[in-house]
Amino acid sequence: MSETNPTESQSKVAPFKKIAAVKGMNDILPGESSQWEWLEATVRRLMASYAYRNIRTPIVEPTALFVRGLGEVTDIVEKEMYSFEDRLNGEALTLRPESTAGVVRAVVEHNMLYEGGKRLYYMGPMFRHERPQRGRYRQFHQIGAEVLGFQGPEIDAEVILLAHDLWKTIGLKDVRLELNSLGQPPERLAHRAALIAHFEKNSALLDEDAKRRLHTNPLRILDTKNPAMLALVTSAPKLLDYLGDASLQHFNTVRNILDANGVSYSLNPRLVRGMDYYNLTVFEFVTDQLGSQGTVCGGGRYDYLIEQVGGKSAPAVGWALGVERVLALLEEQGAQLPDASPHAYAIVPEAQSLPVVLNYIRQLRDLGVNVQMHAGTGDGIGSMKSQFKKADSSGAQFALIFGPDELAQNMVSVKSLRDGGVAQRTESLSSIEAWAKSLQLTP
Ligand code: ATP
Ligand code: MG
Repeated sequence: MSETNPTESQSKVAPFKKIAAVKGMNDILPGESSQWEWLEATVRRLMASYAYRNIRTPIVEPTALFVRGLGEVTDIVEKEMYSFEDRLNGEALTLRPESTAGVVRAVVEHNMLYEGGKRLYYMGPMFRHERPQRGRYRQFHQIGAEVLGFQGPEIDAEVILLAHDLWKTIGLKDVRLELNSLGQPPERLAHRAALIAHFEKNSALLDEDAKRRLHTNPLRILDTKNPAMLALVTSAPKLLDYLGDASLQHFNTVRNILDANGVSYSLNPRLVRGMDYYNLTVFEFVTDQLGSQGTVCGGGRYDYLIEQVGGKSAPAVGWALGVERVLALLEEQGAQLPDASPHAYAIVPEAQSLPVVLNYIRQLRDLGVNVQMHAGTGDGIGSMKSQFKKADSSGAQFALIFGPDELAQNMVSVKSLRDGGVAQRTESLSSIEAWAKSLQLTP
């Protein structure tokens, strides 16, 4: 008697349990991914038109970078970071919760500001241990712009215009721009004292989070999402009233440039942003169409971060948008986004024709026609009927039929798979270039 294969017998008794993705981390499957690719390609073109260059930094950074960069008393550092110890050398590491700190680290490390300012952009996954819900995930994706080494308000305006133009280019509607100025550290200090006094006077109304932050980071209390504290934060002293002439002038110039370019906005004195590194201009693009996950894009000036992570002091400004939220909003608005269906599906009734047919298919691809080759999934290549079924479900606009009769005459049949399309016609395989263009109806 031969022994039974141990894995086989085991799998009958106790099948392996399925392993699911980590909670809050999503697979982006084909169908959806074509929209991601379209968005990314659109962003790349727009960034190039503004002369911004791509930067790619590691997904893992030293934990100290975020603790020092983002501030110890922030939601991210207090409770949202995926931090771990490298088992091999004990290093304290963190999956990046955002990318500004990493970009700044890279800029400092490579001395990139040596020959002047830099306009940069990135895209990629970020990680935050939050409660997953629509528009809020544990692995999510950001696209961001960072401009380093420029001090003037025209750059604040440029990055805002860049985001504004992105909405226009992708057809995103109803995103409101909210603006605020956080001034400079001494102005914030004066405001901070007034803020603490205001909250202390009303200490009975503070929630736990606010009580904890009252003396460590009172500004952050303004950012509360607790409706019970709304009246209290709305009546709080406003930072804008504490700005000196230089800060006010910076802010007014940003506003003038936006006005001159037809970008509307509202002032929101409660807008403080989630990280400590901001100063002067801060802004968010928000929508009412995504429930409480309404911030699509946020950013501002961070003139002190570079120094904080050990670089030579230099000004900077930037923003980051949430890809999942932008795509969800487009969907909510019924935007028609491109899919990745092929232009044509090649039907090959006889398997022995495949080697020859492939030559023609590849010529078509060279000419810009996206062609899906039929392939058998079981025994043999499949009946005409089953091939047509697959052609239909591929989403292709045309079927190209490379039948034996056609091939004998050096021809191919072209059949529209869409309602109202032209009836079947035949085309010559010796002049593919002449008719290939007519097959490229979708991008
Ligand atoms: P929120 O107030 O919604 O938590 P945030 O202030 O933490 O946002 P930022 O750190 O400024 O967000 O990140 C910029 C953008 O990234 C946000 O405006 C949002 O679109 C997106 N984003 C942030 N956190 C998440 C997440 N957990 N899941 C999906 N998108 C996110
Ligand atoms: Mg957050």
